[in-house]
Amino acid sequence: MPDLRAHRAGNMGVPHVWRFEAKIEGPHVAVVALMHGNEPCGAVALDRLLRRGLRPARGTWTLAFANPDAALGGRLFGPAGPPVRYLDRDMNRLWAGARADGAPGTSSAIFPQGREQARVAALAPLVLTADLLLDLHSMQVPSPALTLCGRSPRARDLAVRLADPGWVVADDGHADGMRLIDHPRFSAINGTGTAILMECGQHTVQTAGTQAWRGLIRFLALSETLDAATARTLLAEINAPVTPPAAPVVVDVTHLIQAETDEFTFVRPFQGLERVASAGTLLALDGKRAIETPYDDCVLVMPTRAPRRGQTTVRLGRIG
Ligand SMILES: [Zn+2]
Repeated sequence: MPDLRAHRAGNMGVPHVWRFEAKIEGPHVAVVALMHGNEPCGAVALDRLLRRGLRPARGTWTLAFANPDAALGGRLFGPAGPPVRYLDRDMNRLWAGARADGAPGTSSAIFPQGREQARVAALAPLVLTADLLLDLHSMQVPSPALTLCGRSPRARDLAVRLADPGWVVADDGHADGMRLIDHPRFSAINGTGTAILMECGQHTVQTAGTQAWRGLIRFLALSETLDAATARTLLAEINAPVTPPAAPVVVDVTHLIQAETDEFTFVRPFQGLERVASAGTLLALDGKRAIETPYDDCVLVMPTRAPRRGQTTVRLGRIG
């Protein structure tokens, strides 16, 4: 985890949010890190961008460390505690009522649902006005990196053009609350905003930070807000080709498997993005309920370790 206190001041009146505008017109691009406090990869990428003093050649960048308080283990002063996913509520389930209008909120308002709700209100005017948004995350399991694009055709197209990560997953989000990428600003059929969520790898592995940095450079280059020559230089520094080597694999999620008991157990330790050849293959036992693949060539997306009753345990999808 980089030193987040170095970025606390911000320049938009909201801590940990930075905005830079080029003189030449262009899209408003927002990058969000640390929506979940225990996912440092996005902070690694934004820290690098800020420390290097990179600026947009066109348009606007809004760079937000979403939940630094959770990343510091809830300790604003003194030594940081171990990072946690959230303090009061999962911040990526709270975007349903978030509004882009009005001045950026402050946490002095009373938010009975807790600190994440207050932070969402503060961030909303800054990030929900973006034309293009990248939300950087990591995963519990050692799955290959993937981009979640929700069901928006615009986001799917963007994730496919980005092609890094090499897996694109189209899904419905969560029943227990709205993700940022599913906000109507980005998901409305006739809208113009486009948002994707990059799952960069397992939470604490170094390659997740590398994926986030490379993905961020490519995302900014694709938006044409980062100067193409600078993008080439930055990619060369990490020995990455200018364009990803292959077209991505797109998976359409068809089933969301929820645990109905506290005894949900996979038959083997899946890591994610396994392709199971045959329909009817046993994947897990949920108490006495058998969870089987519903069709041939079924892909497992982000299996959860030790899920509890009511939680999403795994998504199942077809290659599109
Ligand atoms: Zn996350």
